[in-house]
Amino acid sequence: MLRTWFGRRPSAPSTPRPAKDRSKLRVGIPRVLNVWSTHRFWTAFLEALGVRPENIVYSSDTSEDQGREFGKGRGAVDCCYPVKCMSGHYGELVFGQRRKLDVILSPIIYTLPSFLHGHVQGSFSCTRVAAGPENIKSGFLKEADVFSGNGIRYASPFVSFAERALMPRQMVKGLGDVLDLDLEEATKAVDAGFDALDEFNARMRSKSREILESCAREDRPCLLVLARPYHMDPGIGHEIEVNVQASGFPILWMQYFPLDSDLLEWVFHDDLKSGVIRNCFDISDVWPSSYSANTNEILWGAKVAARLPWITCVLRLSSYECGMDQPTYTPVQKIVEGGDTLLFKFGDLDSTKPSGSVRIRVETIVHYVRKSSSDIIARKRARLPADCPLLPRR
Ligand code: SF4
Repeated sequence: MLRTWFGRRPSAPSTPRPAKDRSKLRVGIPRVLNVWSTHRFWTAFLEALGVRPENIVYSSDTSEDQGREFGKGRGAVDCCYPVKCMSGHYGELVFGQRRKLDVILSPIIYTLPSFLHGHVQGSFSCTRVAAGPENIKSGFLKEADVFSGNGIRYASPFVSFAERALMPRQMVKGLGDVLDLDLEEATKAVDAGFDALDEFNARMRSKSREILESCAREDRPCLLVLARPYHMDPGIGHEIEVNVQASGFPILWMQYFPLDSDLLEWVFHDDLKSGVIRNCFDISDVWPSSYSANTNEILWGAKVAARLPWITCVLRLSSYECGMDQPTYTPVQKIVEGGDTLLFKFGDLDSTKPSGSVRIRVETIVHYVRKSSSDIIARKRARLPADCPLLPRR
């Protein structure tokens, strides 16, 4: 009897499940907030599920016209500028498409895929980033459901990028109905998404290393931008760094700074030796309350900028009404300037591009970078060990 109960039964021949056809499904994603640092994931995730690349539509860069034409009357009150802009993106995806979308996917991003994760206390997104989709959605529901009125399904999966293992279930919960998604498919698609995101980040970091190597070889300066990922949006960051780059100085973004151990161990040589930090990603010496991923990265970037000789200037960008950036201004300034490095801050950026004042400030930045860089490089270089990994070995 027991043998009958526990004996292995021949498994039924498995019939392969027919692939679900999502080739005609059109999915829109608002190009806002931390979608700027995770878009590679979303594109690869959807493609792995069979959504065709041409049917994955991101809204355009933020602009005043976009807000005026598509977001008017649907705005959020009492909020920071990047969140306010989201209504224009939602509206563009609903009203501004030649071919109608079937789904709008606007993720509630709870934690972020930060390179500092594991070395800090948390990798949470800003609460306004997480709350943004619900906040802005309400402006499209207040009189009538604008999404369903236009034949669009709205989906907002809650996602924890820092806890990768949770993501497949979160996707099934948030997108199961809309995409007819099961756990097996979600697991494969999440893996594909992370592979694409990791590959993209690695490629960008390697480009940044090439720039640093050329600066080291030629002993010339470059600038580092310390900002949130969405300041890369021309409507949020106003392309201030582009204006500086036009004067011939290479620009690096902290989000894509190279993380190679040879470089970081050289940069943090003294701090490691003296035991001030446990490893190159430790920021507890300057930022003990390290819960917010993007804030942690800004503080880490300030430390790197203060030490690396060829970064002679930091551009610090932040947006109007940003509560998260306020407490970082003084520490970042002290760290950067304490390392003999120039710092220029553009705070409270909003819809109005201050073109006149940006032009004058860019001229000022260029003047000081030209005037001071060789002294800054020499002073910072003298504090570091002789064998720089950015230079060819002799
Ligand atoms: S970090 Fe600042 S700018 Fe970004 S969403 Fe939060 S409050 Fe707004």
